Amino acid sequence: MSTFSATETTAPHALLLPYPAQGHVIPFMELAHRLVNSGFAVTFVNTEFNHRRVVDAAGAGASGCPRLRLVGVADGMGYGGDRDNFVRLNAAMQEAMPPQLEALLDGAGEGLGRVTCVVVDVGMSWALDGVKWRGLPAAALWAASAAVLAVLVGAEKLIRDGVIDDDGAPIKLENNSFHLAASTTPMDATFLAWKNMIGGRDAECMVFHYLTSTTWAAAAKTDVLLCNTFADLEPAIFTTQNSPAATILPIGPLRTWQRSTTKAPVGHFWRVHNEASLSFLDAQPHGSVVYVAFGSLTIMSPTQLEELALGLEASGRPFLWVVRPGLAGKLPTVFMHHGRGKVVEWAPQERVLAHPAIGCFLTHCGWNSTLESIRNGVPMLCWPYFTDQFANQTYISDIWRVGLRVARTDNEGMVTKERIMERLESILADNGIKERVERLKEIAEKSMSEEGQSLKNLNAFMESIRK
Ligand code: UDP
Repeated sequence: MSTFSATETTAPHALLLPYPAQGHVIPFMELAHRLVNSGFAVTFVNTEFNHRRVVDAAGAGASGCPRLRLVGVADGMGYGGDRDNFVRLNAAMQEAMPPQLEALLDGAGEGLGRVTCVVVDVGMSWALDGVKWRGLPAAALWAASAAVLAVLVGAEKLIRDGVIDDDGAPIKLENNSFHLAASTTPMDATFLAWKNMIGGRDAECMVFHYLTSTTWAAAAKTDVLLCNTFADLEPAIFTTQNSPAATILPIGPLRTWQRSTTKAPVGHFWRVHNEASLSFLDAQPHGSVVYVAFGSLTIMSPTQLEELALGLEASGRPFLWVVRPGLAGKLPTVFMHHGRGKVVEWAPQERVLAHPAIGCFLTHCGWNSTLESIRNGVPMLCWPYFTDQFANQTYISDIWRVGLRVARTDNEGMVTKERIMERLESILADNGIKERVERLKEIAEKSMSEEGQSLKNLNAFMESIRK
């Protein structure tokens, strides 16, 4: 006999499957909380490897919410597999995960009832076969810009038009730009995001095929492609007639910090250094602090790391710098105990960016970091590393004009401490940038207000999958 009441077992129940990377798990977790707040139960599926990290980082209570079930499934990489090798990881997941996911889809849901709908990452669209076969409503979420997604959706046409070849290499760019559809405004070549890979042409070709095939499968097998963006942020994409963006639904910016279901952040791979970060900021003057963080994947050479340390020190500005566990050992020891700056292994980034002491954000331009900076009205210094981060830099520095580039060119080798100091001075003195980012912040807030288009889209989407 069941120990659960009828209302518990008949509620809508969404299974969420993010790609196993920090910048995907965080927005998926926000979507999970939105769903829970509107009456859904959620089964949140991480790889076992990431599930353990999330639970360890969150500590007691983990999800902090009984209607949000955190689950781990084996990714097929075995103990100690090289999970930074995305090609191998993708192949291993496709082999190992389907039977485990099907068991979750067919299971009784541990008191939450059976799964009634599914949202997968666009990068995990192979998982949709089992979902469609069961007749469940399905959507895919893209955790980067709509511009990059639209380019991927429309890549077949770009090939037909001779803009890129079958392997994604550009063949017909005019002034380093291309058109997504007839009569559209030209797009900068950085929006061909696979072009910015570390590892040269082979890596670019592999990423192009992976991204296009997973995107096309997601578009073919779901009712909607959700995107963590808002239409007013990317008007060239959303107002273009016959654009591939017709299938994209903007539901952002998904807020990654403030939620009613839990007070602490959930979904982080590392323990968040809340107190150390915030008490440091509390002691600094308004608008003075440089926040430095390069996301979850960026790697800097030890010499570049040291040069950055010297530049920050020489700037004379207070700074809060995130150096992920394992990378801090490469910093000069003297620097680690510096009075003016604070180094932490993982910060509560949203709260940091919302703090009045913050003056600017030195960022790798990950999409989540970009949205978080906008949402908090913080000017950005761009230091991209790979993939869509160069497109985001183009948006930040050339299109929205809410930040500056650090490097003079995208192929520049070492960025010197003098250049870092000069850039910090420039951005902190630039009132135009500050005004523009404040304006964008207001538009972002409006898009997720009761009257806002993104929130309306999100609510309509949730209604459409509530059965
Ligand atoms: N983040 C954080 N604390 C840190 C550094 C990053 O909470 O010290 C979060 C950040 O707020 C963002 C995510 O990690 O939500 C990183 O995603 P992003 O897309 O910016 O970069 P990625 O890690 O995917 O390169």
